[in-house]
Amino acid sequence: MDKMWIEKNIDNFPFEPNLVDYEHVYREFHWEDVAKEFEGAPLGGLNIAHEAIDRHANGALADKTALLWLGQNGEKETYSFAQMKKETAKFANVLKNLNLAKGERVFTLSPRIPQLYISVIGILKNQNVLCPLFSQFGPEPILQRMQRGDAKLLLTTKALFEKKVVPILDKLPELRYILLFDSDAHASEKVLSFSRLMEEASDTFEIPYTDPEEMSILHFTSGTTGMPKGVVHVHKAVYTHWMSGKYVLDFHPNDTYWCTADPGWVTGTSYGIITPWIHGVTNIVDESEFDAARWYKILQDEKVTVWYTAPTAIRRLMRIDSEPTKEYDLSHLRLIQSVGEPLNPEAVLWGREKLGLPIHDNWWQTETGGIMIANLISQTIRPGSMGRPLPGIEAGIVHQNEDGTVTQVSEPNKEGALALKIGFPSLFRSYLHAEEKYKKCFVGEWYISGDLAYKDEDGYFWFVGRADDIIKTSGHMVGPFEVESALMEHPAVAEAGVIGKPDEMIGQLVKAFVTLKAGYTPNDALMHELIGFGRKRLGVAVAPKEIEFQQNLPKTRSGKIMRRVLKAREMGLPEGDTSTLEE
Ligand code: ATP
Ligand code: MG
Repeated sequence: MDKMWIEKNIDNFPFEPNLVDYEHVYREFHWEDVAKEFEGAPLGGLNIAHEAIDRHANGALADKTALLWLGQNGEKETYSFAQMKKETAKFANVLKNLNLAKGERVFTLSPRIPQLYISVIGILKNQNVLCPLFSQFGPEPILQRMQRGDAKLLLTTKALFEKKVVPILDKLPELRYILLFDSDAHASEKVLSFSRLMEEASDTFEIPYTDPEEMSILHFTSGTTGMPKGVVHVHKAVYTHWMSGKYVLDFHPNDTYWCTADPGWVTGTSYGIITPWIHGVTNIVDESEFDAARWYKILQDEKVTVWYTAPTAIRRLMRIDSEPTKEYDLSHLRLIQSVGEPLNPEAVLWGREKLGLPIHDNWWQTETGGIMIANLISQTIRPGSMGRPLPGIEAGIVHQNEDGTVTQVSEPNKEGALALKIGFPSLFRSYLHAEEKYKKCFVGEWYISGDLAYKDEDGYFWFVGRADDIIKTSGHMVGPFEVESALMEHPAVAEAGVIGKPDEMIGQLVKAFVTLKAGYTPNDALMHELIGFGRKRLGVAVAPKEIEFQQNLPKTRSGKIMRRVLKAREMGLPEGDTSTLEE
């Protein structure tokens, strides 16, 4: 543990971090012990909704704030665990009264408003499957996902319904109901008012016996590398949420927590709803989109202690040249975690300098259901590394053999496929309607993640790239992340996206697309300077040979750079599935 660092910042540590002795906890950890946390569930089953809300509402935390909602126009609403229990019971009764059977899928398409959060828990209570959509999707991606996910009921708002659902409604014959959050009256037998139904529903609901293997959430992946996949999760994933909430987010009873991810993506449900509540922690939800001044103000005014965000947001904050700790009181903040994309070392150090805290990177995927590898609060960060596997998680670097088997690479610092040993509770149970694709992810006892990485002597994992993004140039394998991070060390560079451009001589040529920070203008001189800068940092073999300036890089709506789109554009090829491309 980085004891020295903690001692220096003792005010931020009124208590001991949860994972002080990594080796010991890692060695002694057993998933069976986590089961004890969940004893006392209704009828001996396991239901996320009970663990997140009812358990606390029935105990000492009944009056504690579960949800603190910040509206776009300055509104503020709070819901205690006891209130959430009642509201979510009402919604579970609404679903029951509409005869939604166990396992039937309920889609959400909504801004971040309290009704959405109430619904999510209500859906799980009634053993329906939650299928979150991102509210900024257009009609086509919505249709595609609802068809693939066998949608029976949709929760949305009047405006989103009119604009995005009405045009596709005739293609969804299986959809039985649409509930509008902001409508006071039923519009037809099919299009109903959420609030009317809630008024009529009882506020007590007995959660039925729920098998831990019962399907809980169907999540679509971000679509960074291709067509989004429908990932199936079960209630038992809550074990991983509990474990990672304790060790990665380091939850303590008095924490105020803010996760900036939208529940349209897996981070926004696993860590924006479920995990803080499993730990009985106050969860902040902000309705607004990114706005640096607003964000700093929320951190200050709500006295946020633990903050979970993403590299794209951090890079946006970095782009604005400001001194947040001088303008705002961020003294309550004690931990910043980040996920979704590689976190450039530059960003880790920026955090330490400008926010007074380094940023902790962690790695996982929609498929893993929860955080797998992380830089923990109690340990020295290695900037640029994703950290170490969590207790109960065995991660390895594997090589594929010709006979289809895999071998774990024991030598440190050797690149290979990042894989996880199967057997942890939150690993996905299938790709919906794509069994073959699902099976292909598994070799022997390993789940192959599709990312490439290496592990150093001390067991820290370093991200190299997605298998699909790796560049083969003059016989070398180059990971785009390494090149992007090097370019970002140049003061002019805000963001970089690196691809391999087909080249007859050298296979692929390393090409970088770069956006600049405020105050810099794209011109030839700067381009040459960056090429020279790259060579000095990376050597001629790895450095970009071409650099192109762009206003913005193509990104998924969750903020990930879409290198496949950069590549398709470069080559004049079709862009493929762009349903998650930010406009
Ligand atoms: P799709 O599978 O549809 O192409 P996606 O992989 O981006 O989309 P997600 O499940 O949201 O969908 O993202 C998981 C992926 O994000 C990881 O496999 C990895 O490539 C990347 N990622 C997440 N966290 C990190 C991190 N800390 N460092 C590097 N990469 C990360
Ligand atoms: Mg993926």
